[in-house]
Amino acid sequence: MSKEVKAWGATSPKKTEPITITRRAPDDEDVAIDIKFAGICHSDIHTVRSEWRNTTYPLVVGHEIAGVVNAVGQNVTKFKVGDHVGVGCIVNSCRQCANCHDGEEQYCSSGLALTYNSKDPKDGTITQGGYSQYIVVDQAFVLSVPDTIPLDKAAPLMCAGITMYSPLNHWNAGPGKRVGIIGFGGLGHMGVKALGSEVTVFSQTNSKKELGLLFGADNYVATSDPDVFSKLNQRFDIIINTVSAEIPLDLYLSCLRRDGTLIQVGAPSDQLRISPPSLYARRVGVHGSMIGGIAETQKMLNLCGEKHIFPEIETIPASYIDEAYERVMKSQVKFRFVIDISTM
Ligand code: NAP
Ligand code: ZN
Ligand code: ZN
Repeated sequence: MSKEVKAWGATSPKKTEPITITRRAPDDEDVAIDIKFAGICHSDIHTVRSEWRNTTYPLVVGHEIAGVVNAVGQNVTKFKVGDHVGVGCIVNSCRQCANCHDGEEQYCSSGLALTYNSKDPKDGTITQGGYSQYIVVDQAFVLSVPDTIPLDKAAPLMCAGITMYSPLNHWNAGPGKRVGIIGFGGLGHMGVKALGSEVTVFSQTNSKKELGLLFGADNYVATSDPDVFSKLNQRFDIIINTVSAEIPLDLYLSCLRRDGTLIQVGAPSDQLRISPPSLYARRVGVHGSMIGGIAETQKMLNLCGEKHIFPEIETIPASYIDEAYERVMKSQVKFRFVIDISTM
């Protein structure tokens, strides 16, 4: 049976408010999940505010979902009622293209269904995300949350965690490598261990320096000091840009060694501007990376469970979402807001 559930949705770019949405009846492959916690990703804010100019209202955002299995379809083998599970940014893909075959469903060349603001291939409706009490998702896109990870802290791993892990893994971060992370927010703070690399955080100010060093950064610099870029000239193998706004990339490219790589994960709506010598002078590369595949996300969750790598969270009631967005915009969150869905 389909189900009416309480949710918190955007009715316009200006605000979110309580709404009711309908979840489809689970089919044989589906897992029905009682959502307990949902993280607030900056992508939720870009979407609610229609900064990517593609938002369908009313819309429930949220793609950092953690909850408990409420029911399973008859073909579901991976999960049972009561299991702790998560859902990230993807709820379906074509499962046939080369990218899906390679376990890189996030780059599916036809039929990627995102957790919100996408067409659901199962019923043709617009997908609605995790700021809600309940969701129905195909078992192939549900993640298992290890027992060692509390559910509230599991939520941000579904997007922030995997978005940092995937490029670090793909570009072979690890001991002996020097990694720079631009922006010490929800994503940035998850990357600070960088698989054992030497890590430098580039933040706008030194206000979070003590915490950055406490979480494992080797070095923390404030970009308000213009000397930072000359001091760090040609230092890094990898730099990950998590910033949600346009920043002067040429300055950061000057900090890459020969053949170094800058990976863009931040998603501002503006164009990236780079002057050609920043690229050709030392054969540096600029790449992008989007979340990670399902198997890779499960691997990251297992690793976080084993090594106790958890996000720093501030748990909030649903009624605080608009205020939380304002605080995210001012970099006034340490480091991820997580909505307690029981307050809905
Ligand atoms: P967040 O918590 O707001 O963190 C972004 C950080 O960027 C801020 O904490 C701030 O760091 C820095 N920043 C913000 N505005 C800045 C400015 N004008 N100049 C310089 N630095 C600035 O956001 P998030 O949730 O981590 O997401 C970051 C971005 O990644 C968003 O655009 C989001 O849509 C995108 N994203 C992409 C993917 C993907 O798969 N590619 C996945 C998730 C999110 P400091 O306070 O340290 O200065
Ligand atoms: Zn996200
Ligand atoms: Zn595909």
